Parts: sequence; C-alpha cells; structure tokens
Amino acid sequence: MDYASYHRRSIEQPEAFWAEQAALIDWHRSWDQVLDGSRKPFARWFVGAQTNLCHNAIDRHLATRAEQPALVWESTEVERSRSYSYAELHAEVQRMAAVLQRQGVVQGDRVLIYMPMIPEAAFAMLACARLGAIHSVVFGGFAALSLATRIDDARPKVIVSSDAGSRGGRVVPYKPLLDEAIARAANKPAKVVMVDRGLQAWDAVAGRDVDYAAERDAVGAAQVPCVWVDADHPSYILYTSGTTGRPKGVQRDTGGYAVALAASMRDIFCGQAGQTMFTTSDIGWVVGHSYIVYGPLISGMTTVMYEGTPLRPDPGIFWSLAERHRASVMFSSPTAVRVLKKYDTAYMRERDLSSLQRLFLAGEPLDEPTATWIAEQLGRPVVDNYWQTETGWPILGLPSGVEALPPKLGSPGVAMPGYDVRILHETSGEPVAPGEKGVVTIAWPLPPGCMQTVWGDDARYVGTYWSTFPDRQVYSTFDWGVVDARGYVTILGRTDDVINVAGHRLGTREIEESISSHAAVAEVAVIGVADEVKGQNAVAFVVPRDATRITDAAGREQLAGEIMQTVQTQLGAVARPARVLFVTLLPKTRSGKLLRRSIQALCEGRDPGDLTTLEDPGALEQVRSALSAS
Ligand code: ATP
Ligand code: MG
Repeated sequence: MDYASYHRRSIEQPEAFWAEQAALIDWHRSWDQVLDGSRKPFARWFVGAQTNLCHNAIDRHLATRAEQPALVWESTEVERSRSYSYAELHAEVQRMAAVLQRQGVVQGDRVLIYMPMIPEAAFAMLACARLGAIHSVVFGGFAALSLATRIDDARPKVIVSSDAGSRGGRVVPYKPLLDEAIARAANKPAKVVMVDRGLQAWDAVAGRDVDYAAERDAVGAAQVPCVWVDADHPSYILYTSGTTGRPKGVQRDTGGYAVALAASMRDIFCGQAGQTMFTTSDIGWVVGHSYIVYGPLISGMTTVMYEGTPLRPDPGIFWSLAERHRASVMFSSPTAVRVLKKYDTAYMRERDLSSLQRLFLAGEPLDEPTATWIAEQLGRPVVDNYWQTETGWPILGLPSGVEALPPKLGSPGVAMPGYDVRILHETSGEPVAPGEKGVVTIAWPLPPGCMQTVWGDDARYVGTYWSTFPDRQVYSTFDWGVVDARGYVTILGRTDDVINVAGHRLGTREIEESISSHAAVAEVAVIGVADEVKGQNAVAFVVPRDATRITDAAGREQLAGEIMQTVQTQLGAVARPARVLFVTLLPKTRSGKLLRRSIQALCEGRDPGDLTTLEDPGALEQVRSALSAS
C-alpha cells in the first residue's frame, strides 16, 4: 500500500481512519463519537465506548491460543526461566487481581508497582488493568527519594513490591528503600503486597505488608472478571525519565492506547500473532509498558521478559535469547548496542538468528557508526524509531507493515499514522523549509495512545506541551529536527541542548555525531559551558574504545587533538570543542540517557542538581576528576 496516502488519510480524516483501526481490538460497547475536541488541546478518543486492556491482552486470545506461550521470563541474574501460556497468564493475573481486591483496590485506585523484572510485575500491571485500577510502575532501580516523590504524586492505595532485584549477579535490596520512601512520603499507601523472591530477608510492617505467596494461596483459582471501563479511563501513570528536569506524570487512557498499540504492532513492528517479540527494556520505562507487556500481548504474540544485563554471562546473551525463543521482532536501545560494540562480534555471528525480521532501536539518537555496525553484524534491518514517554508509541519510524520505505541513515524515518509532524521555526513558529532546522511539533490532535494530561495537573499539561507556539495548536516535543523533501525527519537533539558559541547556534548532537565518527571513540557527550568571551564553549567528554590509549598524558593529548581536528574538518572551526576530556563512563539516567544538565553544572562549578535518576554516581566523579585534572 502507498504509505503517503495512508498517512494523509490519518491526518485528513482522523475519525474515519481511527474508527477503522479500532476494529483491531475488542470493545464491550462501541463509541458515540470517535474524537471529542471540545476542550482543546485535550483530545478524547472513542467517547462513550467501553473496553478493557487486560481483556484485549489476554482473555480475547484464550479461544485460539490458550496453550501458546504468552510470557516467557528469562533471568540471567538468578539463572531461572519460566514460561506462561495465555491460559496460565490468565490464571495468574486473576490471582493477582483477587489479591489486590482483598487489599481494597477498586476501579480508579492507583497501585504503584516497584519491582524487578519478574513475571509478577507484569501480572500486577495486567491485574490493575483488569480491575480498572491505575498502575504507576516506578523503575526498580530508583532510590528512596525518587520513589517518595512518585508516591506523593500518584497517591497509591497499594504498592506491589519485592524483597530484592539483582544486577550483575549482586542482590539489590528493594524493601529498605521502599520503607524509607514510604516514611518520607506524605501520602502513605494502606497496603504493601510483597513478592518474596527469597533473595533478601525483610521485615514486615504489621498491618501494612502482606506476603503475596500466602495471599495467592488464599485466593486459589480466583475468577476475576474484567471491569469494563470507559475508553478514556486512565490505564496508567508513568513518569518521564527526568533527563531535563522534574519528572512529569504522563497519564494514558485505555481505549485509544489499545488501538494505537495494535495498529503500531501491525504497521511498524510487523509482529504477528504466534510470533515472538523480545524487547530488552524494563517495565519501568514506556518501551516496557508498550512493547514488553501490552503491545505484544494485544497482538497475540509471545513476549520475552529479561532480567539481566547485556553482558552476562557473556555479551552474546541478547542473541542467545533471541535464538532460543525464535524472536521475530527485537527492540533495544542505542545505549545497549554501543555497549555490545566494545566486544567480540563472534558472540552474534555464532547465533542462529534466522527467525529475526528486524531490530528496533529507540530512546536516544542512533548514531551512524552504531547503526551501521549492528546492521552489518545482524544482516537484518535495524529500524530507528523516535518517540517519548508522552506519546506511548512511535512518532517517527518506518511503516514497514504498510509499505517498505527505504531507511535513511541518521533519521528515524517519517511521521507515523496519526502524527501530523511539523517542523517550526523556533521564534516565528512558521513551518521551516526542508533542510532547515526547527522545533519538532505535532499539530492537534495527538493520535490515540498519547498522553491525556499530566496526572492531576491539566494546567501543567497545557503550559508545558502546548504553549511553545501559543498561536498554533501544536504539541512541542522539545526536540530539534530537520525534514527532507521526502518527509524523513532527523532529530538534532533537545531544544535545551543547543549551545551558542560566539553567536553560532550549534546542536550538541551534531558535534557528538562528528566525534563518534573517529574510530577510537566509543561514546561521547558534548556540553556547552559558559565562557566569558564566546558565550559558550563546546566541551567533549569522550569514552575511548581502548582505554590504554589514554593512560598517559601524551596519549590523551594526541587523541584530543585528533578529535578536535575531526570536528573542525567536518563542521568547521566554530564547532571545534574547546576541550576534550576522557572518562570511561558517562553519567546517564537509569534509562540510558545522558544527564547533560549535570555534566554542564559540574563544568560550570554549580551543583549537579537532582541526581535521583542517575545510574552510576562513579560517572559524575569521573567528570569531576577529568575537569580538575585538565
Ligand atoms: P524528561 O522529559 O523527563 O526530561 P526524557 O525526555 O529523557 O525525560 P523520555 O520520554 O524517556 O524521557 O525520552 C524521550 C526523548 O528521548 C525524546 O524527546 C528524544 O529527545 C529522545 N529520543 C527518543 N528516541 C529517540 C530517537 N530514536 N532518536 C533521537 N532521540 C530520541
Ligand atoms: Mg522528555
């Protein structure tokens, strides 16, 4: 099919287009109106209709695929695996739902899920959906403070948690952090359901903590019917990564989300019922919500949930799992691939990946060397896709299920169905010409599946996302982009990642791309640092591929010189970094995104700010010492 006309129809006749897509899922009641735009910029999809996310993910498949594996869990942390057929998943989710009901959970209540990557975490999400309760999954790696702020914002009646996670083979206790977070929080949950993995002893708080295993026994073979909820009933709250500031509670609906996921599984991911999808993300992130749990299950696929790192027991583990489960669709992140790039490629070549159709990567810019490397190793299309926690599914990508458009290196692709993507001039708000840089925006309405509002704060939703160009009804992504004549958009970084060197505005992303093209560079972060003369200077923090090259000052100096020269040749003298410093690790959020604001603060001698989402404090230490040594 011709994608251009498919997409055009989704924009020009959104109601007809999405009403058609809505046939991909089951409804309890049909809608009175496809799109309610009476309160712009809000958009309500499938008004008057009723459905249930859990019904669409599980129950509706029971007639045809009860015995097919639905959820396969693999843990290289505790060296265990488990597989649940659709029938078994149905039973487990009903037990979890019954346990939640016993704690008083009813439709509309929030349930916070603070768990490692274990099947019970997925059961808890699906059980909430079954009951019409609103889940808020908080990434298991977050410490007490981040958890406390999310508890206070979401005000959960119940928290589902676990004794411990495990990372790189080391037990990471959860319960002490949870207790501390609840102690700090002003809004305390009534109950905590503890899934005890037997990894770490824990103290039960009397009257509050209940043991899941005992509760599960008590409910037996519980039958808990799905609660039919309105299409715009919130299914979940998920906080953004906090890369740029205070996390926002993204609130998602039910019906629109189910429809959008089903359509994206067909049009973008080409995942078919009966096939396997392996997404290496975490349920704490949006990719995990949409493409570990809901998307693949809604499509009747088998989903692989993995607890472990990309490197243990060896750097081939992703591909071993893909081989073992005959994955057709894989979804990972550029960060993970860059980690693997440092190791022997035999780990990949020795695996039988004949089942694999495509590898999808998202979450941050996919640099060309990484994209080319992984595509060569796999011999399969590697599909970049661009989206946000806010949108829930890709904004830009390749519509491989509709028409095989050629990929373009460095660009995630074209606007996905329903997204009216416009690149606007940052001050005038006028659409820029192809080839010119502007702010990536989406004209109203956001398609189904995108955020409804900021949880509990409609004003923040409108003020944050819809007020960059007040005269135009557009949602700002806060990313820079450029579109070519064929509609391919290249993302040039975040709008707050622009640096101004002597009046020249440069995207940090462009400088980073240039530096990554140097063969000795594994990873790089470019920061704009205040400079009295030039306004700002570009400073690069480089992780070399081979650490022995930088053990002595002469080696560092030589490599720094080469890198500066590379940028100067490719982008010109203005972009040449004033300093190139070396580290073995970059400060990242726990979702793998560069914490530029903190590096910049250190460079300018300021406090690094909110570090609750920081993955490894050692990385900031390295930045500090690189700065003081230079
Ligand atoms: P916060 O909004 O709290 O600062 P965040 O923006 O990092 O956090 P996410 O929603 O996880 O939280 O990330 C979305 C952002 O990630 C996008 O706006 C974009 O900057 C970046 N991104 C995601 N995918 C891609 C991609 N394929 N190419 C380039 N950038 C991407
Ligand atoms: Mg963001």
